[in-house]
Amino acid sequence: MSAASIDGKAFAAGLRARIAERVPTFRKATGRAPGLAVVLVGEDPASAVYVRSKGKQTREAGMESFEHKLPADTDQATLLSLVEQLNMDPAVDGILVQLPLPAHIDADEVLLRIDPDKDVDGFHPVNAGRLATGLPGFVPCTPLGCLMLLEDRLGDLSGLDAVVVGRSNIVGKPMAALLTAKSCTVTVAHSRTHNLPHYLRHADIVVAAVGRPHFVKGEWLKPGATVIDVGINRTENGLTGDVDFDSAASVAGAITPVPGGVGPMTIAVLLRNTLVAAHRREGVALEE
Ligand code: NDP
Repeated sequence: MSAASIDGKAFAAGLRARIAERVPTFRKATGRAPGLAVVLVGEDPASAVYVRSKGKQTREAGMESFEHKLPADTDQATLLSLVEQLNMDPAVDGILVQLPLPAHIDADEVLLRIDPDKDVDGFHPVNAGRLATGLPGFVPCTPLGCLMLLEDRLGDLSGLDAVVVGRSNIVGKPMAALLTAKSCTVTVAHSRTHNLPHYLRHADIVVAAVGRPHFVKGEWLKPGATVIDVGINRTENGLTGDVDFDSAASVAGAITPVPGGVGPMTIAVLLRNTLVAAHRREGVALEE
């Protein structure tokens, strides 16, 4: 391996520590802690693990965690009325509805009902529109975390060629918008892309968000490229990313491992978005 390993775990720990340092000042100014409400419907084991770590890390940062666990047969109206209640609750700055929701729930309707100013996941179309038009809003946590790792590694991204593999609303599209805003020349590849290696060969930055283990091969990469692997694939050999790590690490300049790369960034950025939401709602300035 010649590539440097990008230590998302350490970066995320530093980010959480910086967030925790800001909480006492907010508390002094407002008499309360920033609050994050997390809603879990049903018993999906992976979701339950995520929700537990979100609650734990929220409390460790000195913020208030409100956890709402609802049974799998909760109906649409009950869930919508909980979201409304959280929208109105002055102690709640951020609302996160853990996905996936059970099949009988219309997830789009639920996400649309979240107050965009409490939408710390950044999935509401109002926030997608704000990102696309350069207005302040909330950016989905995983791509924002990827951007932080890229800037930490590369500094100014202006003029770099970037390929984002994947165009989902939660990773690929917002990632492309963030890189465009940083003046990269961005190509978005997806399942209909002909000849992906052709695009990757010119890319200084590769973000892989495909959901297929070992999909991006080292021989497709430009030597020295910075590779961000968003993939979390559960295989019989454990967790693996979307990048074929061993071949990529022999060509890339730097690469995120899985686990320990992008994964830990997601919750840290969620806490950051909650801190920002709290400051905006209270009209208190936040030095970033
Ligand atoms: P989606 O399934 O929503 O999107 C996958 C994207 O990959 C689609 O745009 C799809 O194209 C594209 N794709 C599929 N096959 C190919 C192919 N052969 N060539 C090129 N593109 C292809 O996944 P997500 O964006 O939600 O997640 C992607 C990965 O990131 C998953 O492994 C997920 O677990 C992980 N993830 C990790 C997070 C973290 O915290 N680290 C958070 C969120 C996700 P098309 O649009 O044409 O179908």
